[in-house]
Amino acid sequence: MTVTEHTGQSAMQSVDDYLSEVLAAIRPLPPRELGLDDADGAVLTQDVTAGWPLPPFDNSAMDGYAVVAADLAGASPQRPVTLPVRAEVPAGDTRRHELTPGGCIKIMTGALLPPGADAVVPVEWTDGGTDGGTDGGTDGQVTFDRPVEPGNAIRRTGGDAAVGDVLLTAGTRLGPVQIALLAAAGRGTVTARPRPRVMLISTGNELLEPGQPVSPGQIWESNSRMLAGAARQAGFTARRHPIVPDDKAAVLAAIEDAIAGADLLVTTGGVSMGGEHDVVKAALADLGTVGFRKVAMQPGMPQGFGMVGAAGTPIFTLPGNPVSAYVSFQLFVRPVVNVFQGLDFERPVSHRAVLAASVRSPRGRRSFLRGVLDRSAGRVTPVSGQASHQLASLARANALVVVPESVTELAEGTEVEVLELP
Ligand code: AMP
Ligand code: MG
Repeated sequence: MTVTEHTGQSAMQSVDDYLSEVLAAIRPLPPRELGLDDADGAVLTQDVTAGWPLPPFDNSAMDGYAVVAADLAGASPQRPVTLPVRAEVPAGDTRRHELTPGGCIKIMTGALLPPGADAVVPVEWTDGGTDGGTDGGTDGQVTFDRPVEPGNAIRRTGGDAAVGDVLLTAGTRLGPVQIALLAAAGRGTVTARPRPRVMLISTGNELLEPGQPVSPGQIWESNSRMLAGAARQAGFTARRHPIVPDDKAAVLAAIEDAIAGADLLVTTGGVSMGGEHDVVKAALADLGTVGFRKVAMQPGMPQGFGMVGAAGTPIFTLPGNPVSAYVSFQLFVRPVVNVFQGLDFERPVSHRAVLAASVRSPRGRRSFLRGVLDRSAGRVTPVSGQASHQLASLARANALVVVPESVTELAEGTEVEVLELP
């Protein structure tokens, strides 16, 4: 529990307490049988063991000639050995081409090693062979001027993994390579917790879709796209709800509508202290399952979190100002991805850096100032334009400078904590 300061207004909840409350309330999603096409970003709930050896059969690592190594013993440029080419085996050929001593078989990378062969000579080590004509090269010959070690350029059955080997452990997040491994091991499905699905809902009578003409008093809606992108970066699958007007019934209807296809709802707007115009707060306060509070931070003081609907779908109600919404998302929403997937939450990547300019911060609130972090120089420069509507300055920033609750001013040159923005 960190210090909660009383500012004369109602008590504020500390950033850390609020995050703990949120993390404790999220329940992991039930594991599902997922096809590999739906498994990207999912988290395994069981170890995956190899049901077949990998590779599943002895095969050639090179394009060349399968030989009996003993046939080439003593081969040299002075005393080259020439062998007849008895067959050609491309990758995917499932026929059995037995090799007997005194001949060789032309073989391609990944092709089944002919029984009887104990080495593959890369084509680069030969004279390239003579073409056997139109019948697949089976009556040509090839000349070798050096010996070959038994086992050369052969990929042995089970050389990557043996039957029963653990390929991936429970708790692994599946990325491209892990999914490739599952595919290579012949697994069409896995048991895993999928990426959580989040629905972004923007509220406000002033909001219009970009591309539409606006009148003074109206603005183009930006939060839902920003947060959908941030959610995808965080590991959610994300969708945007059509803009919701400032109307309690419309807000409740949008939430009702969104619940069916979402594991998490995130609204923006309508939660500040403005009374009847703050319709998200008004609509959800009636349900009694969403807690509205002031969090001791700047930007992003008004926060709501709780559960809605029969299934108790978690909902964040973020403030409407774009910078407040973004900072709130990174601090409180991003970490819940892991919890939904049964993993420990991850803290944002944090660095120490020296301030390139002095900064100010309100007493009793933790400030997250937008800055440009130069990691190699260990310096962070606060951007000009720290107000919570200033999206243009947020777009220039790559980090948040953390100013602790008890601090109201930091001089240029002070070392500070800096959170990397994803
Ligand atoms: P509110 O939290 O609804 O009082 O909104 C605070 C400020 O954020 C107002 O200036 C709104 O116009 C602005 N705002 C709210 N929602 C959005 C949004 N989705 N996109 C851009 N600006 C927004
Ligand atoms: Mg509003």
